[in-house]
Amino acid sequence: MEKVKVNIDGQIIEADRGKTVLQVALENDIYIPHLCYHPDLSPAGVCRLCMVEIKGKGVVTSCNTPVEDGMVISTESSEAKKVQKVSLELLLTNHPFDCLTCDQSTECELQKVTHFIGLDHDKIEKLRKFEKRYDVDESNPFFTYDPNLCILCGICVRTCDEIVGVNNLDFAQRGFDTVVSTFGNKPFVESKCASCAECVVRCPVGALRVKNRVVPTKKVKSTCVYCGVGCGIELEIRAQKVVGISGDRENPVNNGQLCVKGRFGFEFINHKDRLIKPLIKKNGEFVEASWDEALNLIAEKFNQYRGDSFAALSSAKATNEDNYVIQKFVRAVMQTNNIDHCARLCHAPTVAGLAQSFGSGAMTNSIGEIKNAGCIFAIGTNTTYAHPVISFEMKKAVKNGAKMIVANPKEIELCEYADIFLQHIPGSDVALMMGMARLIYENGWWDRDFVNEHTENFDEFVKSLENFDPEFVEKITGVPIDKIKAAAEIYATSRPSMIFYAMGITQHSHGTDNVLATSNLAMLTGNIGRESSGVNPLRGQNNVQGAGDMGALPNVFPGYQKVDDPEARRKFEKAWGVSLPDKPGITHTEIFDGVLDGKIKALYQVGENPVISEANASHVMKAIEKLEFFVVQDIFLTDTAKYADVVLPATSFAEKDGTFTNTERRVQRVRKAINPVGESMPDWKITSEIAKRMGAKGFDYESPAEIMEEIAELTPIYGGITYERIDRVGLQWPCPSKDHPGTKYLHKDGIFKTASKKGIFKPLSYRPPYELPDAAYPLLLTTDRSLYHFHTGTMTRKGGLSILHGHELVNINPEDAKRYGLEDGDTIKVISRRGTVKAKIMVTEKIRKGIISMTFHFSESRTNLLTSPAIDPVAKIPETKVCAVRVEKAEE
Ligand code: SF4
Repeated sequence: MEKVKVNIDGQIIEADRGKTVLQVALENDIYIPHLCYHPDLSPAGVCRLCMVEIKGKGVVTSCNTPVEDGMVISTESSEAKKVQKVSLELLLTNHPFDCLTCDQSTECELQKVTHFIGLDHDKIEKLRKFEKRYDVDESNPFFTYDPNLCILCGICVRTCDEIVGVNNLDFAQRGFDTVVSTFGNKPFVESKCASCAECVVRCPVGALRVKNRVVPTKKVKSTCVYCGVGCGIELEIRAQKVVGISGDRENPVNNGQLCVKGRFGFEFINHKDRLIKPLIKKNGEFVEASWDEALNLIAEKFNQYRGDSFAALSSAKATNEDNYVIQKFVRAVMQTNNIDHCARLCHAPTVAGLAQSFGSGAMTNSIGEIKNAGCIFAIGTNTTYAHPVISFEMKKAVKNGAKMIVANPKEIELCEYADIFLQHIPGSDVALMMGMARLIYENGWWDRDFVNEHTENFDEFVKSLENFDPEFVEKITGVPIDKIKAAAEIYATSRPSMIFYAMGITQHSHGTDNVLATSNLAMLTGNIGRESSGVNPLRGQNNVQGAGDMGALPNVFPGYQKVDDPEARRKFEKAWGVSLPDKPGITHTEIFDGVLDGKIKALYQVGENPVISEANASHVMKAIEKLEFFVVQDIFLTDTAKYADVVLPATSFAEKDGTFTNTERRVQRVRKAINPVGESMPDWKITSEIAKRMGAKGFDYESPAEIMEEIAELTPIYGGITYERIDRVGLQWPCPSKDHPGTKYLHKDGIFKTASKKGIFKPLSYRPPYELPDAAYPLLLTTDRSLYHFHTGTMTRKGGLSILHGHELVNINPEDAKRYGLEDGDTIKVISRRGTVKAKIMVTEKIRKGIISMTFHFSESRTNLLTSPAIDPVAKIPETKVCAVRVEKAEE
């Protein structure tokens, strides 16, 4: 960075060229009053408070004046102070003087500026013409908008545009009547506001403020417990309760930004329904028990099921340390590899597919690289709802000049930013991407050098492109071939290009093929192995990446070391002091089949709710009812926990130490901020107690830090991770040694993790979904997510988020609604070959004709009673994105 020398108030300062006078002054502890400036936003220069006098230039606004070499700046100049004072007086003549009762008092920037500049009370009184002219908008459950307190600094308007990309706020009306208004002048809750409150946290006065704010007595840094983005947070604590959450500005994942769930979805932590004591079912009723009674019973029972009649489901919500101990218990004590977790239901094809192509099944790039992409191809991801903070970054990339291609059966919010929207039919992704690959190849847009130097199997791949002639691709996808061609050209020629996908790609009976199609595209165009260029699966739950890394999978130990590799097995046998089973275990979906077949008799389930989340859920319920012994460890008595013989109360993430690994492979700290609620205990401790009562050695852990030491010793990709090293910002694996800086992006310079170090093209052919609409079930049901809820809603449905989205809303196209005599808000029955579900409808053109969509957050409308049991033959993931249904009008 080029430097310049400036003189501020007689002090010679070396500053980066390109910075403004205000930035340089603030960085050097020289305060210049300001209200419309915010470090995250472009300068506006509207409040006229940051005036300084610059030799040769006169009095100017410092927030938008760049420093120049030799500049002489006075912040104390009487001319500058005169303008500051007049600007402040004009502001105060129209601002209420109720500081003592204003919630923003002591944190108000206007108060600070007033104290600094000083006030002539008599003059202000004479000038004052304040009158309350606007209604206060209390519609949002989390924050209030009082336009009477607004100083028109525009920070909220710029935040909504530049940070969030929603553009819900703008200045309305003119002159004295100017006011900040939502799009269409609607109450906040009815507007397109995403309720992230990024505007609220930046409002310098009390115009936008959090409702019922409790001032915390301490803040504890941790990691968000919802999606795989892994935003850094600060838990705000008072009297052993979490009273708020704010974004950690130091964290490179989110730089302080949060979405509505991360910021306001904390009410579950201290909710009255938390499990606080172990429960044992006696005569069909749960009875509270002591820990000793519950753990002794479990140890005695589990002893009877050692071996392959036992299975465990670990948790993508639990920490790495919890997952490590659980899989160690299953393998070393229960002597089986029958362990899996919910990655099977979301990203198992990612692990299987990317490992085949690249030798490693994880997001290739970092979130921080998104803003510099030349093209973003978002397929099968409603990023705005499922990974909101990553959607902020994608929109920033577009503002920086990136092209965006969105491929989705629904017209999602990202489409507002897209150059091309491909509204393809669910289940046609292989045809779409291989169709694009064929057009790229035929038009010479492919990267010959990269393919020749860094890949294998190209000829077979090219041969398989013959399966995808344009007519066929158009017919299968339902998208005009010209549009597909335009998308192909943009993706191939706007390098660096990044592919993003989520469950729209993976939750199919050909999910692994879909993933292979993404890697084929990336290798064909040389868009891999460089910054802002790669294949990026967006992981769903906060620690689904970590649960897989920790070996909560039936075929691998921690770090994806295969259980049937004798060398790997010997290493773990030596470390754990036991002999270990050599046969891979069975998967999540196979476990429930195994129960019905009589092979699995006891199940230990930690932090999962398969009765709601598993496809074809009635099959799961039947299986669970057949279990001889069923233990659930969770923070609430979930729909699944109700079936258990013993329920163990676990602590939430706010009550324990540990680590989560986010979607970009970053291992980050989770910190104990409050004492455990009731008698709850961390998962790692509960599992260790069971193991010890079964006579096992190697479970005497004193702390999660000690567990991480064992993980690092045995897991090469985590070899350099210690709590000390990740104290502030975390580290991205692979991080093999204590002096390794972590890995920002994978496959650098086209060197892959495969045996040959080359990327491997995979020939593909189109396979239709297992179940397509027919005369009896003429509509196609696909599943989606809500911005306001997470997974089965056990945490997000415990507070204000339910006010923003309280029940299931089946999305249906107007033509379909008309055909079935339905109107917006009607209640319908959705019927598949497996079940019937009742829910209200929302008629919307955003969904294709012939397709309906539902979330799976609402236990009253269990979408997964409808979904298909078909599974991907490689990854064993169920096809929750496509099944055939019919609809009927129903009574409320
Ligand atoms: Fe939490 Fe994900 Fe929202 Fe970030 S984007 S605050 S990790 S839910």
